[in-house]
Amino acid sequence: MMTSPSAAGRLTVITGPSGVGKGTLVAALLKRHPRIWLSVSATTRAPRSGEVDGVSYFFLARERFADQVAAGGLLEWAEFAGNCYGTPREPVERHLAEGRPVLLEIELEGARQVRHSFPGGVQIFLKPPSFAELERRIRGRGTDGEEAIVRRLERAQVELKAEGEFDAVLVNGDLDQALNELEGLMGLG
Ligand code: ADP
Ligand code: 5GP
Repeated sequence: MMTSPSAAGRLTVITGPSGVGKGTLVAALLKRHPRIWLSVSATTRAPRSGEVDGVSYFFLARERFADQVAAGGLLEWAEFAGNCYGTPREPVERHLAEGRPVLLEIELEGARQVRHSFPGGVQIFLKPPSFAELERRIRGRGTDGEEAIVRRLERAQVELKAEGEFDAVLVNGDLDQALNELEGLMGLG
């Protein structure tokens, strides 16, 4: 399927609690629309099994992450569940200048920063059908230890209260339906 010109050079932010299905939904979107460029974030979190440096994230030691912050190399950054995450600035600006639709999958504090730096961007909040379903998904994913799960679920309570700040709220119940709605919000044919 083609990406319509209306989406070219637009910045879209997807935010939602850990385990809601952001990664799954974004992967399905990119498969349908290869022109969309997904930002690769920097993080101090340890790689999960199967994650590849430079593809899933740029995995950085805390000192290197701090260097990036000090040099102004990050468009936004935030701490989440004990680790730092941030969006490298240069590739986002370059892909937007090339007219590519750019997608950021980031947490709430980062979305708030981008709202100020890119007021023309579209901000989408992805939420689960229920909190119980969110917990089921995050546990079912099997990637996080109990302590990380508890921190992520605590943070989810805060994030879910912020849905009103976003341009649109999508419920990730049925994945195909959420994908179709996301395409609509991004102006993709
Ligand atoms: P996030 O990137 O938001 O942390 P993931 O994409 O890793 O979330 O999804 C968390 C878990 O939920 C995964 O096991 C994934 O397969 C599952 N999942 C994602 N979307 C759905 C959906 N629409 N219905 C049921 N399970 C889903
Ligand atoms: P995870 O550890 O599950 O990969 O990600 C944890 C949280 O960090 C998710 O909510 C994810 O969206 C967010 N995140 C990933 N990259 C970035 C980033 O560059 N900036 C910010 N602010 N959050 C990010």
